[in-house]
Amino acid sequence: MKIGIPKETAAGETRVALIPALVSSLTRSKHEVRIESGAGIGASFTDEEYAHAGAIIVTDARSLYDSSEMILKVQPPQFHPSLKMDEAELIPEGSSYIGFLAPVANPDVVKIFVRRRVTSLAMEYIPRISRAQSMDALSSMATIAGYKSVLLAASRLNKMFPLFMTAAGTLPPAVILVLGAGVAGLQAIATARRLGAKVQAFDPRPAVRDQVKSLGATFIDMELDAQAETAAGYAREQSEEFLKKEQSVIGKRLPNVDVVISTAQVFGKRPPVLITADMVRMMKPGSIIVDLAAEQGGNCELTQAGVTVEHQGVTITGPVNLPASVPTHASQLYSKNVVNLIHQLYQNGTTRPDFTDDIAKGCVITDSGAVTNGTVKQLLSEKGVTFA
Ligand code: NAD
Repeated sequence: MKIGIPKETAAGETRVALIPALVSSLTRSKHEVRIESGAGIGASFTDEEYAHAGAIIVTDARSLYDSSEMILKVQPPQFHPSLKMDEAELIPEGSSYIGFLAPVANPDVVKIFVRRRVTSLAMEYIPRISRAQSMDALSSMATIAGYKSVLLAASRLNKMFPLFMTAAGTLPPAVILVLGAGVAGLQAIATARRLGAKVQAFDPRPAVRDQVKSLGATFIDMELDAQAETAAGYAREQSEEFLKKEQSVIGKRLPNVDVVISTAQVFGKRPPVLITADMVRMMKPGSIIVDLAAEQGGNCELTQAGVTVEHQGVTITGPVNLPASVPTHASQLYSKNVVNLIHQLYQNGTTRPDFTDDIAKGCVITDSGAVTNGTVKQLLSEKGVTFA
């Protein structure tokens, strides 16, 4: 296949869908790799490195798209700022797309893909099964977000994280509360512990308790529901009653906490509000909330996505796209996920994914002029999206 990697066009996006070190992994399988000039520069990969690795450098986006049978991207297709058209319209008819897609939030892109008979594979829909772990871009990116969230907090906090015993006195360690101990939360715990902070964490899934403890953090005890987890390993949406109880347990801890890192998400739903405005007032002046759920609506009532606000001395920051702030490693992990997916689904020189594979059943969203993914079809129809 002719595989094309355009330069990302979304504001603030620095990642690239394929790093030079992985070009040979595709060319060895007889694919041709074409990359738009400058596509890797945000992640510190030069055209020379790509050319040396065996990629063809294409100077303009239009010819890159025109000459590709498969497009690899990070961000879902956007409006192309210099070509003044949707990137989805640039993807040749009948070809393939691999990247994040957010199909329910982007029904117009899905409609274009259906009309143009594009086979689209959404990285965020790769099933979270053991066999697909090496393709799990959500986990790769959450690892980076969890790590970076702690560094953001550490650089803003008016205290140091570790315990210091000096001739001038003893400085106690900072106290960090991590809400939600999935991939990002566990990485936040590990990072805060490496910096020497005292860490407490909570998650409604009972399975997480031991993972939290193994990282040296305290698991906050609350009565947990054994059914808190779906078969796919995600948290179920908690009842109003549970959330009230959780807020009360969290509230009791807030006066003694320096930093809250919140990462709580429920797949397909708005993230739960775990910290109300009243609860923020319980925190010490100078303390910080880093809300990793900001983009989806936030775990704190006062969070604004992409903005840092101050409320009675407490800083609430809602960072968006933290992986793009660590672009070299984020691109490295993401590329490896994408390349593993290609090797898994496109074997024996075929240009069509292996639709019998459960991984394809999960992540193929559109094919041959239709939405083929049942979940996405259902969610789009609930939104009233129709296809001519
Ligand atoms: P996520 O980003 O969807 O959610 C983050 C965390 O928020 C989860 O741990 C969830 O339990 C928690 N949460 C939900 N409601 C909450 C509440 N009211 N209070 C506090 N926390 C709350 O999750 P994720 O990190 O993407 O992954 C979730 C789980 O999926 C993993 O921990 C794992 O079990 C599973 N998983 C499996 C694989 C695999 O097998 N390939 C890969 C990744 C993840």
